[in-house]
Amino acid sequence: MFKKILIANRGEIACRVIKTARKMGIATVAVYSEADKDALHVGMADEAVCIGPPPSSQSYLVAEKILQACLDTQAEAVHPGYGFLSENAAFAKRLEDAGVAFIGPRPHAIVSMGDKIASKRLAREAGVSTVPGHTEVIRNADHAVAIAREIGYPVMLKASAGGGGKGIRVARHDEECRDGFQRTTNEARSSFGDERVFIEKFIEEPRHIEIQILADSHGHVIHLGERECSLQRRHQKVIEEAPSPFLDEATRAAMGAQAVALARAVEYRSAGTVEFIVDANRKFYFLEMNTRLQVEHPVTEFITGLDLVELMIRVAAGERLPITQEDVKLQGWAIEARVYAEDPFRNFLPSIGRLVRYLPPAETRTVRVDTGVYEGGEVSMYYDPMIAKLIAYGLNREQATAHLRDALNEFYIRGVSHNISFLAALLMHPRFREGRLSTNLIAQEYPQGFHPADVVHDEPNLLIAVAAAIHRRYMDRAAKITGQLPGYEREVHDDWVVVMNGDHYPVNVQAVHGGHDVIHNGQTYRVFSEWQFGQPLFQGVVNGNAICIQVERRNLIYRLFHWGSQIDVQVLTRRAAELLRCMPVKAAPDTSKFLLSPMPGLLTQLLVNLGDEIKSDQPLAVVEAMKMENVLRAERDARVAKVHAAVGDTLAVDQPILEFE
Ligand code: ADP
Ligand code: ADP
Ligand code: MG
Repeated sequence: MFKKILIANRGEIACRVIKTARKMGIATVAVYSEADKDALHVGMADEAVCIGPPPSSQSYLVAEKILQACLDTQAEAVHPGYGFLSENAAFAKRLEDAGVAFIGPRPHAIVSMGDKIASKRLAREAGVSTVPGHTEVIRNADHAVAIAREIGYPVMLKASAGGGGKGIRVARHDEECRDGFQRTTNEARSSFGDERVFIEKFIEEPRHIEIQILADSHGHVIHLGERECSLQRRHQKVIEEAPSPFLDEATRAAMGAQAVALARAVEYRSAGTVEFIVDANRKFYFLEMNTRLQVEHPVTEFITGLDLVELMIRVAAGERLPITQEDVKLQGWAIEARVYAEDPFRNFLPSIGRLVRYLPPAETRTVRVDTGVYEGGEVSMYYDPMIAKLIAYGLNREQATAHLRDALNEFYIRGVSHNISFLAALLMHPRFREGRLSTNLIAQEYPQGFHPADVVHDEPNLLIAVAAAIHRRYMDRAAKITGQLPGYEREVHDDWVVVMNGDHYPVNVQAVHGGHDVIHNGQTYRVFSEWQFGQPLFQGVVNGNAICIQVERRNLIYRLFHWGSQIDVQVLTRRAAELLRCMPVKAAPDTSKFLLSPMPGLLTQLLVNLGDEIKSDQPLAVVEAMKMENVLRAERDARVAKVHAAVGDTLAVDQPILEFE
C-alpha cells in the first residue's frame, strides 16, 4: 500500500479523499492555489504545496506543477478527485511515466471515453444501447439540418468534447438546428478547444440514471447499482438519489450488465460511471462514461456500505477487488442535495464572499455532510460555488427525504446566499414525492424562475407555537431582571397574538415544567427546548416531535427559517395587536419602472439613450460581474425616462440604472 498520496484537487472532494487516506494510515499532501492558502483541505492534509496563482489554469490545471509537487514531497500516488485534471489522459500518462501512480483508470481508457463520439462508437460495438443518431462529425449547418431530419426532431446537438452540461442544445425544427449548430460549435471551441459537434435523438421526458462501476487491474468488474440524477437545472445535477424510484429489477440488471460490458471493453480500472438516459417506457440509452469519482458517489456509499475512495486507492495499488457482484447488497435509500452559494430568488446568481456564520448539521448514522469550507472562510470567485453536499439515508425513500429535510433545517449559512430554500422546495414538490422525475422537472415546474411564493410551509401552526414559546421565554427573562421600579415590574401575560404574514393568531401560553404549552385554535402545542437567546438554532420537541428552526431576532421581529420558508413573526399583547391593525402598511416600492442592477458589478455598456422607445426583451445594458457579461433586457415595452448610471460606474445590487415611463 502507498505510504503517501497527493490530492490534486480542492474543496469538499479534497477533504473527502484526505479522510479516507487518514483512515487507511496513508499520509496526505494537499496542493493549493494562492486563493486557497487558508482552505480547509490545506489544514487537513499532513503537508501542503502551493502551486500558483488563483485561476485554475495557472494552478490546479497545470500538470507540470502537480507532478513537481509529487516529486518534492515523494508522494507515490495522485488522487485527482473530480473536475480539473481527473479526466486528463496526458496527465495520467505523465504521472505513470514519472513512476507516480494515478488513482483512476489507465490513460487509454480515459482517452477512449473522454470523447463522446468515440465512446458512443465503442459502446455500440460493445453491445450497449446508444441514443439513435449519428456518430459522425457535423460539417456545417446544412449538414446538421439534413441529419436532424433523418433522425427526426427533436434532436440534441452535442459537443464531442463536452462536459459539465456545457455544449448541449435541443433543436425542435430546422431553424433551431441551424442556429443551435453555430452556437454549439462556438461554445465547443471556446470551452473545450475542440469544435466537433454531433447530433442524436432528443429523448422526451428523459430521466438521467447512471451505473456505478468498480474494476481492478486483474480483470474483475462489478457494478454497484444505479443513481438517479434527473433533478437538473440547465443539465447540471441538483439532487441525486440511490436507488432510482423508476427502475425495476430487470432494467437494473440489464443496465448493470451493459455498463460492465463497456468497462470490460476498455479494460477499465478504478471507479467509473456509465450514464444513461431513460425514456418513459424504461428504454435506456448510453450517454457517456465518466472515468472518475462522481460528485454524487456518497449516495452509493450509503446504500452499499462501501468506501469508493478506499477501493480506488487499493485498486491503484494493485490489490484485487475484495468483493464480487454477489456480495453487493443495496440496502435502504440515500438522497444527496448540493448546497450552492447562489441566490435562487435571483435567477441562481452565484454568490461569493465570506461565510460569516457556517454551521453544518451534525453528522449522524443517517446524515453525512461533505464540505470544504468553514465558518470565517471564503467562497471564492475563482472556483465552483458548491459549499457542501448534504446526504441523508433512510430505510426507504420517504424516510431519507424526511431526514434530508430535517438536516436542511439545521444547515445555518450566513454571509453568502445559498440555495437551501430551493432544495427544500424540491423535496416537498409532489412530483418529487411521487418519484415522477424528469430532467425537465425544474424548468417545467418553475417556468418563471423560483420565487419565495414557491416555498410553501405545510404546518404554519408549528411556527406559531414556536414563536409564541420563544417570546414567552424572552418576556420571562425580562421579568426576572432585578432592581425594577416597585409598582412597575414587568408582568408576563398568558394571552398573546402572533402576527404572521399580516394575519393575527391569538394564542395562550402557559409555563409547564421545562417548557410551554401554547394553546391556539383549541389545540395545545407542548414545546420543550433547551434553547437560549442568541443561539441560531431553536432545537426542541413539539408534541413529541423533534424540531429545528433557525431564529434571528430583529428588533421586534423574529425571523424564522424552516423547511425552506423564511417567515417574519411578531408576538404582541392583545392591545398592541389591536393597535397594529390601525397602523398604515408601508407598500413595497414599485420597482417595475426601473432597470436595477441584479448584482454588484461594473456597468460596461448602456445600449439605450434618454427618450428611447424600447421593446420587450431588447438588450438595455451590460453589467460585468465575476468575469461574466450579463446582458440586462427590457421586461416590457416602455420609454426611457431617466438614466441613473453611466458606463464605467461600479454598481451595487439593486442600484437603478434606468427609469421608464
Ligand atoms: P455532460 O458531459 O455535460 O454531462 P451528458 O451527455 O452527460 O453531458 O448530458 C448531460 C445531460 O443532458 C443529461 O444528464 C441529460 O439531462 C441531458 N441529455 C443529454 N443527452 C440527451 C438526449 N439525447 N436526450 C435528452 N436529454 C439528454
Ligand atoms: P433583509 O431584511 O436582510 O433586507 P429581505 O427581507 O430583503 O432581508 O430578504 C432577504 C432575502 O431573503 C431575499 O432577497 C430573498 O432572497 C430571501 N427570501 C425572501 N423570502 C424568502 C423565503 N420565503 N424563503 C427563503 N428566503 C427568502
Ligand atoms: Mg454527463
